[in-house]
Amino acid sequence: MSKKVIIIGNGIAGITCARHIRKQSIFDITVISSESKYFYSRTALMYIYMGHMKHEHTKPYEDSFWENNRINLVQAHVEQISSADNNIQLNDGTNLNYDFLVIATGSKSNKFGWPGQDLQGVQGLYNLQDLQTMEQHTKDIKHAVVVGGGLIGIETVEMLLSRNITVSFLIRERSFWDTVLPDEESRMINKIIQHHKVDLQLGTELKEIKSHNGAKVTSVITGNGEEINCGFVALTVGVSPNISFINNSGVETDRGVLIDHNFRTNIKNIFAIGDCAQFKTPLDGRKPLEQVWYTGKLHGETAAKNIVGLNAEYLPGHWFNSAKFFDLEYQTYGLVLAQKADNEDWFWWQDKKGEKGIRILWDKNTLSFKGINAFGIRLRHEICNDWLNDKTPVNTVVHQLRKANFDPEFFKGYEKEFAAAFNHQNILIKN
Ligand SMILES: Cc1cc2nc3c(=O)[nH]c(=O)nc-3n(C[C@H](O)[C@H](O)[C@H](O)COP(=O)(O)OP(=O)(O)OC[C@H]3O[C@@H](n4cnc5c(N)ncnc54)[C@H](O)[C@@H]3O)c2cc1C
Repeated sequence: MSKKVIIIGNGIAGITCARHIRKQSIFDITVISSESKYFYSRTALMYIYMGHMKHEHTKPYEDSFWENNRINLVQAHVEQISSADNNIQLNDGTNLNYDFLVIATGSKSNKFGWPGQDLQGVQGLYNLQDLQTMEQHTKDIKHAVVVGGGLIGIETVEMLLSRNITVSFLIRERSFWDTVLPDEESRMINKIIQHHKVDLQLGTELKEIKSHNGAKVTSVITGNGEEINCGFVALTVGVSPNISFINNSGVETDRGVLIDHNFRTNIKNIFAIGDCAQFKTPLDGRKPLEQVWYTGKLHGETAAKNIVGLNAEYLPGHWFNSAKFFDLEYQTYGLVLAQKADNEDWFWWQDKKGEKGIRILWDKNTLSFKGINAFGIRLRHEICNDWLNDKTPVNTVVHQLRKANFDPEFFKGYEKEFAAAFNHQNILIKN
């Protein structure tokens, strides 16, 4: 008889896993998710609010795809896992048995117990339901407050501005996303935010959220004692694994569901992937939790192989990420952290208008290339990857930067300037 696989969560991780199990087996596959029946691209949520896309356009597959591929979709909430009985319980009381279970339940928005955090018009931005309440609570308002300076925070600011709602952006750190970006990059983004007439309040914490009538938010009080009148508050202070329903299931958890490099939990036939999974021992140069789109996809592919019996280890290659800060494109390859390590050195260049920037990181002892941050310039993934794989000398990277330029016509004219500045300041590195 065909094995039964249940996947909880139809995000990029769960859906990729389902597709890859189907490609390699005739297993009976059911994907259960409470948010929506069909998979959609979470990263496009902002564009729906901004009117650039309809929800329909964010679905990468036709609705018929699932039936055609014999992937059974169920919209329901999983209340409990009974690992001893290979069984899960749904919110409507249904019990389902499995041979393999995959937990792919993603993240949830953080809340830190602020007074007033449950008022109407106060919320995070993670899912379709959040988008709906945001739509509802930002109608006819003039001013909003966004708390927390990460990628979702800046996206939320941009969303609100697109509706002509002015924004106060409260960031506890002394500069935008400075726990991730080095100083110069972080300050570059501060300027962009201010250029868009956002009331950027750095080094400012949220203290309390208030309401005149005890229902809908009317103001916030900051740590500096200032009261800001507003009709909406977005709490974008990070996300954490969405795993509270796993308590008492026998599956080991820490911040996320604990897994090995094959995505197996402590229970042999239960796997965890995507944002909710936490590596017991992280791979070299990578973090225990990986909460981005492309890693969710890779987790799903690798777990599928293990489920069909192919014994595959996770081999994600070098870290990379990309984002957009308003119109400014950002890419990073390798691990360029906010602070360099003792054995590392780096060089930052920015054009005069502050529209382009590049940082190159290398190993001080071997002078080999370790990573790059690029702003306003699009780089070729495969070239950056080759440089990292080959531990290419930093001088070679600097002088061959043009090779990595994705679109030399559009992004022309910075390589010479960059190389000259590097040679001038650095630093004649001999290699
Ligand atoms: C606004 C926003 C913008 C983003 N932009 C980017 C970006 O530009 N680039 C990037 O790399 N990453 C981005 N991310 C992060 C990226 O979207 C996530 O890393 C990725 O979607 C996680 O995928 P996942 O499959 O692990 O989980 P999710 O996509 O979170 O899917 C999990 C699903 O499981 C369901 N679920 C949870 N618990 C249960 C339960 N008990 N029963 C039933 N169903 C359940 C949830 O409802 C959800 O639908 C963004 C995230 C957000 C919120």
